[in-house]
Amino acid sequence: MNLSEKMVALGKKRSCIREIFEYSKKRKAEIGEDGVFDFSIGNPSVPAPAKVTEAMRALLERDPVALHGYTSAQGDLGVRSRIAEDLKKHYQAEVDPELIYMTCGAAASLTISLTAITEEEDEIIVFAPFFPEYRVFIEKAGAKLVVIPGKAPDFQPDLTALERAITPHTKAVLINSPNNPTGAIIPAKTLSALGVLLAKKSEEFGRVIYLISDEPYRELVWTQEPLPFVTHYYDHVLVCYSYSKAVSLPGERIGYILLSPKAENAQDLYAAVCGAGRALGFVCAPSLLQFTVGECVDAVSDFSVYRTNRALLLEELTRIGYEVIPPDGAFYLFLKALEPDANAFCERAKKQELLLVPGDDFGGEGYVRIAYCVSTEQIQKSIPAFERLYQDYEDQKI
Ligand code: PLP
Repeated sequence: MNLSEKMVALGKKRSCIREIFEYSKKRKAEIGEDGVFDFSIGNPSVPAPAKVTEAMRALLERDPVALHGYTSAQGDLGVRSRIAEDLKKHYQAEVDPELIYMTCGAAASLTISLTAITEEEDEIIVFAPFFPEYRVFIEKAGAKLVVIPGKAPDFQPDLTALERAITPHTKAVLINSPNNPTGAIIPAKTLSALGVLLAKKSEEFGRVIYLISDEPYRELVWTQEPLPFVTHYYDHVLVCYSYSKAVSLPGERIGYILLSPKAENAQDLYAAVCGAGRALGFVCAPSLLQFTVGECVDAVSDFSVYRTNRALLLEELTRIGYEVIPPDGAFYLFLKALEPDANAFCERAKKQELLLVPGDDFGGEGYVRIAYCVSTEQIQKSIPAFERLYQDYEDQKI
């Protein structure tokens, strides 16, 4: 084959999430929208804040040549400065606009960050369960993915296992809090211990181990505790942010990378980020969207519906008899399948028109993910289907 076999294979096999999302479209066409309970994809169901729409309208009145023209490759400095000011205000974090790189969402933030730091034989460590695209991004950057198995019931990072997994080849640890798919939030004391461990290991091996923090769900927090900001706990940090989830702009592809000013050789690290952006063709994130987020740095959608959905699902699924992990953030719920094979369980759920994602590709075997960023009505209507599915397994036991 006169093509990259790896890319052909990647293109032919959709992600497990998109596979079910496509099935949902087909099934809805067959039996109608209302008959299918699609919990497959993390597509926000609430609109972007009114402020975002108003800012876009106002921007469209401006000089179109300037508005739609290229910005600097790393993004407009005025926009980056506003983002930096907002982060300083919210998280009392040290932020330098000259160390922010605007991107096309978290996916681009991750691929750029990974490409910027990866050299031959490098290893990137992730904690299971994790967003399945990490594997694709890490391997494409030329690194090896090292997975630390997840530990039920809270799925917090296992630092003892991490210490054992770190080798002289470890280039970075990649964390995601609030987590997709469990909703787990890494508390400050764990981040602090993680920071101490990474500093110790960096010293032991004589080279910096970076911490990449993937934060597209940063504002989606359901607990009272404010989300700890990672740069307070470790120096060598790359934060990957996206406006896809809490600001409901997933199709617009906008986000950023933020480097801690305390990172070793921060200027060179930034140069590497700019170089990776250049090499990957990710220069000048969409201008209209850059200026829009610059006008609305503190705006988030009204996502109270997700809080309602979370409470409703937790209550109803527990009542029925399912084992669920109460999510502290994001808009996903990790549910224990009623048989060891989560794929088989999802197939049986399909018979009740319930579309769930098996945990296997997330490194969470035996569990399924429910994306509850849907209407509360869909959740309410789906409960009898969850009941029938449970009963189906109960009947089998007799
Ligand atoms: N990281 C995680 C954990 C995600 O869940 C997603 C999307 O669902 C992404 C990254 C990619 O986000 P974006 O749409 O901003 O590229």
